[in-house]
Parts: sequence; structure tokens; C-alpha cells
Amino acid sequence: MLDGMKDRKRPDPDAICKRALPVAGVAARTWLGRVDAWWAHGAAYAVRSAMRGTAALLLPVDCVCCRRPDAVLCAPCARAMRTACLRPRRVEHRAESLPLNHRNEPLPVVAAGAYEHELAAVILAFKNRQMPGLVGILVPPLARAVKSAIDTLVEPGAPVVLVPVPTRLQARNRRGYFPVGLLLRRLRRTRVLPDRVLVAGLVRYRATRQFTSAQKGKGRRARGAVRNSMCAGGGGLPARLAVLGARVLLVDDVLTTGSTLAEAKRVLAEAGLQVCGAVVLAATPAPDEKRGVRSTR
Ligand SMILES: [Zn+2]
Repeated sequence: MLDGMKDRKRPDPDAICKRALPVAGVAARTWLGRVDAWWAHGAAYAVRSAMRGTAALLLPVDCVCCRRPDAVLCAPCARAMRTACLRPRRVEHRAESLPLNHRNEPLPVVAAGAYEHELAAVILAFKNRQMPGLVGILVPPLARAVKSAIDTLVEPGAPVVLVPVPTRLQARNRRGYFPVGLLLRRLRRTRVLPDRVLVAGLVRYRATRQFTSAQKGKGRRARGAVRNSMCAGGGGLPARLAVLGARVLLVDDVLTTGSTLAEAKRVLAEAGLQVCGAVVLAATPAPDEKRGVRSTR
């Protein structure tokens, strides 16, 4: 059987994510399955390509990395980003505020790539320039990192829950969408995740306390304010998943200090869930390797 699987392996590293398929466990004949089948059809692809060409004439776009015209991410930049994200890597040593286990080891974190060059430019555009359409470009690197985390951090056969690290309401209102939620929704629709993997928003920010939005540029003391800012969501779902012995992998876009991951883990651990690690799209370089992070606008 393994040989058969090897035979079907595609040369394109992103091929697994290009076929949008329904959620695992949901019959292919649901409306979502039909929409996905229609979307993946060759004729629909040709129509979309033609429409993209027309749209480029009417509404000029340029590459989010190098500003080359006519594509939101030009072919050379897309290729460079794919190459940079081919091998997911462990990055917990870079974050100073990650929670430690009883052996004094930080929570394991797998990153799709480093927060620099093309990947940083695409993430910034996706998050801060109201370009949710970039989700399709970011899903393949995230899928690879999630698979790597499941393979290396979770016991074989155990149910896995991917929990997005929440965004503050203020940021969500400003953008009009929830970037990590959008990524996970798209990821769930691919065939890449095993059946035992579930996606659930089990953590949210408390509504009663006011926090400022971004952590960037804040001191260590200010980042400490993240503590007690979150609470469990999802009604009785965390308790039911805990009874099933589910293992949690937190999912976030960028790892900086790790304080938001620490807070999310605290909330889930209090709800009785076992958090095995986290997956991020990109990790900022360690203090001694801070170079090239903002090399692309
Ligand atoms: Zn470019």
C-alpha cells in the first residue's frame, strides 16, 4: 500500500492543497462538496484565469513582494516563498515567553518558515492590507507545518484538535476577518489532514477587559498583560474533547515572544486539555540573527 502511495506522489509540493475537497467525514455530495468539485473543475479554472486577466486590466494589482505588475504574487516570488517553506522547523528556542514543562523545556513550536523576505511580505499583506485572497498561497506552507507537528509531537492515533489563537475583537473589526480562522477553514477543506484531526475555536479573548492591539514594540512588562486576557470558548466542547483524550495543537500566524501561545495554553490546560505544541506560519529570528526581517517593505 505504501508503494502505491509513493506512486501517486506528485512533484509539485503544493499539489495536495490545490485540490479543494470537503471536510473529512462529510459526504462529498453535500453542497460544500459540490461547490468544491465545481471550483476544482478544469473549465472553472479556465474561466477564473480569464477573469483574473480581465480584472488585472480593470483593477491593476502588483506583487506584494516586488511590486511587479499583474499578479498579487508574481511567479518568481511565489517560487522563492515555496522554496523557503519546504522544510518546517522547530523554533521554540527563539521565543522567551513560551510556557515550560516540568523538565524546563519550552512548548514545542513548528514554523513553516522564517519571518523574512517573501513569506513576511505575504503574511503582512494577508493580515494588515485587507488581502484575505492570499489565504490560498499561505495554506500549503501551513499544511506542511501542521503535518510535521502531528507526526512529531502527537502520539500516533490520538485525536488532534487544531485550535486557532484568537485575535482581539478590535483587530478583527478593523480587518473584517480573522486571518488564522480563515487559514484553518481553508486547510480543513483540503485532503491533507488525517481524519482524526478536528478544528475548533476553543479560546477567546475576554470581553470585559480592554487591551491594546499589537504586541510589536512593547516591553516585556507590557507583554505580561496578556496573562488572564483569554478564557475558554466552545461551550462544553473542551470538556468533551478532554474526556476523549484529544491532543491540542495551537495555531497562530507569527511567533514573536510566545506570550499569546502561553496564555492560550494556560486556558486550555485549565479546561483539562493536553496541549502538545503549536504551529505557526513564521517565526521571527532570534535576537542574534535579526536581519532581513523587513527587507520587503
Ligand atoms: Zn514578486
